[in-house]
Amino acid sequence: MNVHDSERLAGQLEEAGYVPAAEGAAPDLVVFNTCAVRENADNKLYGTLGHLRPAKDANPGMQIAVGGCLAQKDRGEIVKRAPWVDVVFGTHNLGSLPVLLERARHNAEAEVEILESLETFPSTLPARRDSAYSGWVSISVGCNNTCTFCIVPSLRGKERDRRPGEVLAEVEALVAEGVLEVTLLGQNVNSYGVEFGDRQAFSKLLRACGAVDGLERVRFTSPHPAAFTDDVIEAMAETPNVCHQLHMPLQSGSDRVLKEMRRSYRAARYLSILDKVRAAMPDAAITTDIIVGFPGETEEDFQATLDVVREARFSSAFTFQYSKRPGTPAAEMPGQLPKEVVQERYDRLVELQNDIAWQENKKLVGRKVELLVATGEGRKDAETHRMSGRARDGRLVHFTPTGPAVDREVRPGDVVETVITYGAPHHLVADGDLLTHRRTRAGDNVAAGLRPKTDGVSLGLPSFGAPKAVPVTGGCGA
Ligand code: SF4
Repeated sequence: MNVHDSERLAGQLEEAGYVPAAEGAAPDLVVFNTCAVRENADNKLYGTLGHLRPAKDANPGMQIAVGGCLAQKDRGEIVKRAPWVDVVFGTHNLGSLPVLLERARHNAEAEVEILESLETFPSTLPARRDSAYSGWVSISVGCNNTCTFCIVPSLRGKERDRRPGEVLAEVEALVAEGVLEVTLLGQNVNSYGVEFGDRQAFSKLLRACGAVDGLERVRFTSPHPAAFTDDVIEAMAETPNVCHQLHMPLQSGSDRVLKEMRRSYRAARYLSILDKVRAAMPDAAITTDIIVGFPGETEEDFQATLDVVREARFSSAFTFQYSKRPGTPAAEMPGQLPKEVVQERYDRLVELQNDIAWQENKKLVGRKVELLVATGEGRKDAETHRMSGRARDGRLVHFTPTGPAVDREVRPGDVVETVITYGAPHHLVADGDLLTHRRTRAGDNVAAGLRPKTDGVSLGLPSFGAPKAVPVTGGCGA
């Protein structure tokens, strides 16, 4: 969500006349788009602001703006702790940034503007997209749930849904520019439609994406187990361009802890959803989020989480050690656990999950996969002479871009088919000749250094601009 918000911030700054600073040059403007989900985000932000102070002293005309969740939470506190910050804006008024910068410059004093509810849906703002082949599309913002560990509802507000026509118009605008893959984005995609009274709105939206010519891959994040309904599973299975990938946050396998977390499903319901998904899509890759060490978690509760993990056979999991977020109910709960206990449980969970992921990945050796070639996903690609891409199920594959099927050269944004030769815990390797290579418009655009720039909502068509260093940082923490 924050990464996509950063695309919107960059888009509107460009529209206001800002241009990205040349690499290595001192910028006139630095914008931080912050996240408050993890505890150390605060430390990182204030530490980084401290590092920027000498640059600001040397160039008083330089402006520094702080936005996003941490700004929504800390508000005026930011300019108290770092008086060299010029603008603070929250999650509900991304669109005010250019005006606030102008006002701060004119008045020669800091502008702090935090709104309590959404002013304009961020998708109405222009966006400067990071990728030529893959795009985020927001379907909703905010969340109506009240998970006791989560700061999101207090910082992002109640759920607001975008109309399906607007979502589809944005999807079509991206595809018209050669984008092959979209990820539909919401805090809780399964409750999409609650605002306009259609409980099946999300499955209908998936099916409507299936009718967009040229759209090859549709993903979404995140669903919620309590609201996940069979019509979504059917739409996933029956819509050819919807990827068989599901990120389904578990958080805990203990029913008692789930209740304390105010997560309204139980372990049995969670596992029954996975059974249904796998019955409909046997090749589905299922990933999850798990929190270890929630207040009051006993060894028995933790064992229940391990049991679900053993049964669920996740292809990967984001595992977190519980950390207090001030302002959340869980921060005040009794039974906060010592760090050593949490760490020891966490290590056991990671060991188990890595082992399962490795076993599952080894089963894929010999399987043919279709990859959308990616940029920046393989740190060792240069030394191994491989490239990297994502399979349809979301798995990361490092592959050798050679063989008679290669049409000139393989570029990020192109589509290839290959066979898996090795399965590691966190990635796959395909070292044989490519079976096929399809050059795409997205690949042409990557090669030409172009990225889509979309106007807000459905109005107007996207255009391309040459990418340079983007003047907006991509969040500071989680
Ligand atoms: S559903 Fe997700 S975003 Fe909403 S309160 Fe729970 S954890 Fe936070």
